[in-house]
Amino acid sequence: MIAENLKNVRNRIRQSCLNCGRNPDEITLVAVSKTFPGEQIALAVSEGQLDFGENYVQELNEKYAALHKPEVRWHFIGRLQSNKVKYIAGYVHLIHSVDNFGLAQEIQKRGERLNRSIDVLVEVHTTEEATKSGVSPDKTVGLVEQVSKLDKVHVQGLMTIGPFSEDPEDSRPSFRQVVSLKREIERMGNERVTMKHLSMGMSHDFDVAIQEGATIVRIGTAIFGKRIAA
Ligand SMILES: *Cc1c(COP(=O)(O)O)cnc(C)c1O
Repeated sequence: MIAENLKNVRNRIRQSCLNCGRNPDEITLVAVSKTFPGEQIALAVSEGQLDFGENYVQELNEKYAALHKPEVRWHFIGRLQSNKVKYIAGYVHLIHSVDNFGLAQEIQKRGERLNRSIDVLVEVHTTEEATKSGVSPDKTVGLVEQVSKLDKVHVQGLMTIGPFSEDPEDSRPSFRQVVSLKREIERMGNERVTMKHLSMGMSHDFDVAIQEGATIVRIGTAIFGKRIAA
């Protein structure tokens, strides 16, 4: 099932790109494996999937330790508490969810100790939903500026989560807002900041995200199936 789902998702990504004149090679598919066991991840790896997204530090660590797949790139996409950074700082490929300076400082501290630069995205809160993480749009440029002064934390772009809605069109304003922030940041010409990546689009709205310029899509359900609430 996973092999088939992966093939479908890859085809749909390719089709979305072709429909809007983009090169499919520009898109990184992050398979969101939260709540699914390591065996399912191993199956996806055997289908050539190497980027995986997890939301919980403990779960990520257990999978990282159990899987023995050094080729896998682990993305942290969930809410990250500063006191948990130390558990993933040594191996995480990209942290998508930096939304406050305290967290960035903790990543810096761990990066210094490990002598490792850690790539991050700044997560922007683009919806009305109160429970969502992310820095507010009007504070995003300031946060990026601040984080850019930390030499072990490399800002590679922005991330957002669209609204919880059946209709993917409802996500378009969120994605556009992130693109406009990206342009604003690029205009500052800060050479310590790269706006290489826009992480946006999930199972239900990745087509719209690709139309709007996503370079990373984070897809769980369409690959692994429905999650059982823990
Ligand atoms: C769970 C999750 C996803 C994947 O969502 P699906 O709808 O299952 O594709 C993507 N991004 C984040 C931040 C998530 O928490």
